[in-house]
Amino acid sequence: MIIIDGSEGEGGGQIVRNACALSLVTGRPFRITNVRGGREKPGLMRQHVTAIEAACRIGGGECEGVAVGSREMLFRPGKASAGDYHFAVGTAGSTNLVLQTVLMPLLLADGPSRLVLEGGTHNVFAPPFDFIDRAFLPIVNRMGPRVTAKLVRHGFYPRGGGRIEVEIEPAPLVPVECVERGAMLSCSATAFFAGLPFDVADREIRMAKKQLDWPECAFSVRELPEEQGPGNILVLEAVYEHATEIVSGFGKLGVPAEHLAKRAAARMQGYLDSTAFAGPYLADQLLLPFAIAGGGVFTTVKPSQHATTAADIIALFLDRKTAFQHEAGGTHRVTVG
Ligand code: ATP
Repeated sequence: MIIIDGSEGEGGGQIVRNACALSLVTGRPFRITNVRGGREKPGLMRQHVTAIEAACRIGGGECEGVAVGSREMLFRPGKASAGDYHFAVGTAGSTNLVLQTVLMPLLLADGPSRLVLEGGTHNVFAPPFDFIDRAFLPIVNRMGPRVTAKLVRHGFYPRGGGRIEVEIEPAPLVPVECVERGAMLSCSATAFFAGLPFDVADREIRMAKKQLDWPECAFSVRELPEEQGPGNILVLEAVYEHATEIVSGFGKLGVPAEHLAKRAAARMQGYLDSTAFAGPYLADQLLLPFAIAGGGVFTTVKPSQHATTAADIIALFLDRKTAFQHEAGGTHRVTVG
């Protein structure tokens, strides 16, 4: 039984999700004490409960202590089975974080799977659908499997009600090298809004234009059906030959549109100024598939605590070390092996 102190390192929900995925892949049970001990409100939240239940369902496993507020949990995996699954995060919790939990085990299952996930699709502190679809999944597909995702309906906090559908054709993951991003092919800044005044999105776009030296045609506003709101997200996307970076600014009551756009643009500028393949979020999310593939190399900006914590959890289950090596120009070379 692997014992994990959930307050160590980053101390959040990602430890729980990565442990579930790794447990299903390796067949090793685990217990987490101090679940989300690094958070102001520790213990499992609704979205973590859904993610663990989803892992149990696809893996025929058993779990204990899985309830909202629980600070200790145990997970005994079975064998991941391919199938048609439907998971609904009762609140506007992130569907993409549930996907993060079950994707790797289903990639190694005995046949194709189809997932329908309902809840939030564009949540703060989680990968928005666009990021999963165009930044993360293309790398997973480069490793062998075929995963396609479709956004049926946007779901914003607090209303939720979003829906994504994912088709998974498994294949053994093979190590890849993601060191060079190649030349830039296109860039775009899109402000999506639903059930809110046009002015909010327009102000975001005007600020993004001021901050980013991108052509006029790269900037646009897109109105979504009113019933999908209220909600707003600014999506900045830079597409290179071998990598795509997506930076999001999540609209929030009380945060001025200009402020959110300025912050998102500064983060995108940081990526544009570097030569790294992966931005900070993609880096922590790539560690799991790379480790399961048995190795691989990618370059990134400064590794986040999410990344170093993911590496620690991987080391517990797979006995695989991740090296973060600082390189000239500020990039880091991440070697999983
Ligand atoms: P907690 O409340 O414990 O923080 P959590 O379960 O929501 O819980 P984290 O442990 O913080 O989550 O993990 C969040 C995950 O979402 C990380 O893998 C991170 O890379 C990803 N993520 C967060 N924000 C973004 C973003 N803007 N774009 C892409 N990925 C993101």
